[in-house]
Amino acid sequence: MEAAVASGSDVDPDTGRPTDTPLLATNQKKNDEHSLAAPLVVPVAPASHRVTEAVLTLIHPALDVKSWTEIEPDVEAARPSHCPRCGRAAHRDDGLRLHGHGLRERCIWGPPEVGAESMRGTILLRRYRCIECRAVCTVAPRGIATRFLYATTAIASALLMWGVWLWTAAKCRLKVSPDRVRGVSEPERWRSLQRWARRSSDLFGLPEVNSGASVRGRARRAGHILVGRGPPDLDQHRRAVEGALAR
Ligand SMILES: [Zn+2]
Repeated sequence: MEAAVASGSDVDPDTGRPTDTPLLATNQKKNDEHSLAAPLVVPVAPASHRVTEAVLTLIHPALDVKSWTEIEPDVEAARPSHCPRCGRAAHRDDGLRLHGHGLRERCIWGPPEVGAESMRGTILLRRYRCIECRAVCTVAPRGIATRFLYATTAIASALLMWGVWLWTAAKCRLKVSPDRVRGVSEPERWRSLQRWARRSSDLFGLPEVNSGASVRGRARRAGHILVGRGPPDLDQHRRAVEGALAR
């Protein structure tokens, strides 16, 4: 069981304002259980999910943001195998314990793929409620981290650019942020870079990063490790992005 991300709602890293629309539909159970199930490609039901105990956000082990958006997994496809709080199996002989509990809209920023323009996107996450312990959990694809508005793939790109390629903050921002205009007032500053470098250990499960001397040194170390995690046949940027999803 991994506890990769912190508790609480997501916030804008620059303004501190909440970024999520918490509930799209609490009483949408009927739609949730039936209407979305029709023409979708249903992946193999996940055998396990990573669990963040504090907020009960689970990361789907098989789907990243791109495939989640394409497939739009229905309530059955995204259902966790077990309740993350009480640990009881979702299915049992006499019925279902984890019921669909609507959808949650979530902002996600950054380039959708390497080389693409950065954008502000939204994604619909699935929620479930345990009838045994009444816990409500949210299932999200790989590439989403609680408290981070940007996709983890975008953060990995930025750490590579800033830490390894030694790009200026302004140039990194131009490539990674959809909010490029804000950079005009502070062209050489982008606080998100330092925040991401400091949090890269938690974000990507890199305990060794913390021993880096400077913040930029941590970014460099994280960038190198993420590249090392990616498939060797890809270019450096794509390796870092895949490395971010490989956790
Ligand atoms: Zn439960």
